[in-house]
Amino acid sequence: MIRSPIWHPFTQHALEPMMKRIAKTEGAYLIDEDGTPILDAISSWWVITHGHRHPAIMEAIRTACETYDQIIFAEYSHEPAEKLATGLIEVAPAGLAHVFFSDSGSTAVEVALKMALGFFHNIGKPRSRVVVMEHSYHGDTIGTMSAGERGVFNAAYEPLLFQVDRLPFPQAGSDQATLDAFEAICRSGKVAALLIEPLVLGAGGMKMYRASLLAELKDLARRYGCLTIADEVMTGWGRTGSLFACEQAGIAPDILCTSKGLTGGALPLAATLCTAEIFEAHLSADRRKTFFHSSSYTANPIACAAAVANLNIWREEPVRDRIGALAKLHEKGLARFASDPRFANLRQMGTIAALDVVVPEGGYLSEIGPRLRAFFRERKLLIRPLGNVIYLMPPYCVTAADLERAYDAIDEAAGLFAAGRL
Ligand SMILES: *Cc1c(COP(=O)(O)O)cnc(C)c1O
Repeated sequence: MIRSPIWHPFTQHALEPMMKRIAKTEGAYLIDEDGTPILDAISSWWVITHGHRHPAIMEAIRTACETYDQIIFAEYSHEPAEKLATGLIEVAPAGLAHVFFSDSGSTAVEVALKMALGFFHNIGKPRSRVVVMEHSYHGDTIGTMSAGERGVFNAAYEPLLFQVDRLPFPQAGSDQATLDAFEAICRSGKVAALLIEPLVLGAGGMKMYRASLLAELKDLARRYGCLTIADEVMTGWGRTGSLFACEQAGIAPDILCTSKGLTGGALPLAATLCTAEIFEAHLSADRRKTFFHSSSYTANPIACAAAVANLNIWREEPVRDRIGALAKLHEKGLARFASDPRFANLRQMGTIAALDVVVPEGGYLSEIGPRLRAFFRERKLLIRPLGNVIYLMPPYCVTAADLERAYDAIDEAAGLFAAGRL
């Protein structure tokens, strides 16, 4: 057997089978080297929105390649980035006025944290506490791991992680404990920012909370002079039903992070949007107030062109109708498990549906996770449960028949598990 030198992400190579290669992507499918189509029911880690290789995005990339490769993004600007920045401000929640580019969700969040602390530093009222919600995930760099939930993922790096304040995830029907905890921390006067995934905590287990809680947290933050950072890296670009999840809470954050669906999932790109107030706190004849951040590939022109094409798709195609139709299919798919004792916590928001398999012991390392994954792989479905949490987050071009096949497989897997045969 020829071993690959590749070290894959989130992969225990001692336990995983040899990986098949994907030879082609098309719509909602990955096509492997044997020509077998695999339904990409998790949008290739949540990035593909409209479908793989949307023609308009591919065309924009081809055209951009005629003119650009990478261009330094200090001293010079370029048209794809300018168009994209203007377009993003148009569609983003009101009040966001400036766009800082980077290249991954983690970096977008790092940039947001630096903007927040830089803001308070530059106005001469230093604040440095960061408040997050329990079970949150913001990336895998040291800074974003610090903000995220602690556990098996980051135990080895614990000595390097900084402390943040954590709010309890709201219990069903009760948001008050979360609000009270936030207000108590805010009273210290030291909170720089609330960093939060709006409406859905993704990697933490597709945990969903009410839009009204987000609105109330934002209101508390404003009253205590702390900034709200919306990490829309996963929730953006229609995932929760609206373009950005913040819209459903009627809030405009001070800082918004976007990445995964920004280019429709075709190329890596990220943006951190902020208010004029935050930008202006860095505007000074004093060079020490400069925002000191960059990555080499900031605002890659080809990626920006892909994102501009994505904005056009949102303007010109009935994306919202597709999302609405997909949401209805999920409702129907979940309904069959409504009073099924094998499942708990059926939940859905927009294009995301999730349910917990009832197991003696849950959690990410729950043995059921890898077994379910292997079962789905055999069924030619790309579904990667988070422990005992099964979720579907397909591209918006997925068909009713595709989704039905996914729900059938979930049903079958749970049946096998209950019978001790998975
Ligand atoms: C995926 C994700 C990130 C990290 O994005 P990367 O591009 O993987 O670095 C950050 N925040 C949230 C909410 C995410 O889902």
